[in-house]
Amino acid sequence: MDHDDLRHWSKRAADWAHDYHSTLRDRPVRAPLTPGKIAAHLPDQAPDSAEDMETVFADFEAILPGITHWQHPRFFAYFPANASPASMLAEQLANAIAAQGMIWQTSPAVTEVEQVMIRWLARALGLPDDFTGTIHDSATTTTLSAVLTMREKALDWQGLAGGLSGHPRLRLYASAETHSSVDKAARLSGIGQDNLVKIPTDRSLSMKPGALAGAIAADRAAGYLPAGVILCAGGTSVGAFDRMADCIGVAHANGLPVHVDAAWAGSAMICPEFRHLWRGVEAADSIVFNPHKWLGAQFDCAVQFLRDPTPQVKTLGLRPSYLETAGREDIVNFNEWTVPLGRRFRALKLWFTLRAYGLEGLRNRIRNHVAWATEARAAIGALPGVTLTSDQRLSLFTFALGNDAETEALLSRINDDGRIYLTQTRHRGRLVIRMQVGQFDGTRDDVMTAPKVIAELLP
Ligand SMILES: *Cc1c(COP(=O)(O)O)cnc(C)c1O
Repeated sequence: MDHDDLRHWSKRAADWAHDYHSTLRDRPVRAPLTPGKIAAHLPDQAPDSAEDMETVFADFEAILPGITHWQHPRFFAYFPANASPASMLAEQLANAIAAQGMIWQTSPAVTEVEQVMIRWLARALGLPDDFTGTIHDSATTTTLSAVLTMREKALDWQGLAGGLSGHPRLRLYASAETHSSVDKAARLSGIGQDNLVKIPTDRSLSMKPGALAGAIAADRAAGYLPAGVILCAGGTSVGAFDRMADCIGVAHANGLPVHVDAAWAGSAMICPEFRHLWRGVEAADSIVFNPHKWLGAQFDCAVQFLRDPTPQVKTLGLRPSYLETAGREDIVNFNEWTVPLGRRFRALKLWFTLRAYGLEGLRNRIRNHVAWATEARAAIGALPGVTLTSDQRLSLFTFALGNDAETEALLSRINDDGRIYLTQTRHRGRLVIRMQVGQFDGTRDDVMTAPKVIAELLP
């Protein structure tokens, strides 16, 4: 296959993609769960001689029954992984160029468009202009980067060379509503899961600021070394928000940096009416949000805003002589802000998405999602035997039947049926079904299909 063949196949792929997207509503949202079925169709090793692309393409179509359709308009599981058509186009172009943006000189446009997109997004979310930032692959790596920076700041940058031994035990603080990526960051940073202190939450599911202050003081008295606080702006389970202003106030009064995980909910902050949910966030040191979730800039695209990039660059940055740009000290090398060296041109899909729909077009989508979630929640809550089990947060709510076994059986029936797709979580000791509304091309009808399907499948 050469570039002339690629032209032919790209056109075929574009037609295929159009057919795929225009028939999504007719497909079951979730793939059937039969482990090993797809792998059993594939040979045990790579072919020695080149194969005909026609055969390869046909085999690609044969694995489609093993795909869960994340762009399906009736996907209400997890959180969305929206890929707007404009972002798909941008990815196609980024793929064609296939540039590495590890340092400024390896493609100045990759770095500079990224810097401008960070500024556009900070303004779009109502953050002050003194935030700068960068794009990572995922919120998980972003939070790891922030936690590594907390570790090194607490150790006065002694850990990078000398390791962690000989220092007091470091401590991190977060509520139990934060995502498991915070636990992962505690583990991978060498701080250790046991040193991630889970601060109790109040009835609104915010971390209790007084309990945070108490935990930090108790740790100091016990000889531990507090390193930082991770706050939750839109938890994955039921959408919990910590009270930013109060919690950041406690952290900063104790000299601790704050990282805010707004992976899902950050996108909604392009709408001023939702910003009260994270009031006070502008005092944070680091904020992550995933435009690849709700905004429409397809995976992978995790944006980190930083009040001051210096501590993170001091932690993650390494500049061996082969990565120097002779005579240029004034340029930004984004690999020094992130874990990997190599970096894709991720800013291109943000640029295309923000321009193709405009902020108002994106705001309208999110406002519709929240309004339709409210309607669907009311309809589901009115069904016999159904209890609503958490407050609606933006476009996310949960519900359950009388006991866990009934709830689990209902969820299986819903997902085997295939018209909609929902997933579960545990909340206040109980198995509950989550529903979030956020599909880029979803309509009110798609959303209101959910209460209809659930009504049909109730025991
Ligand atoms: C999805 C999610 C994450 C993890 O996101 P990745 O980009 O897949 O690593 C972290 N935190 C929250 C709140 C999330 O919703």
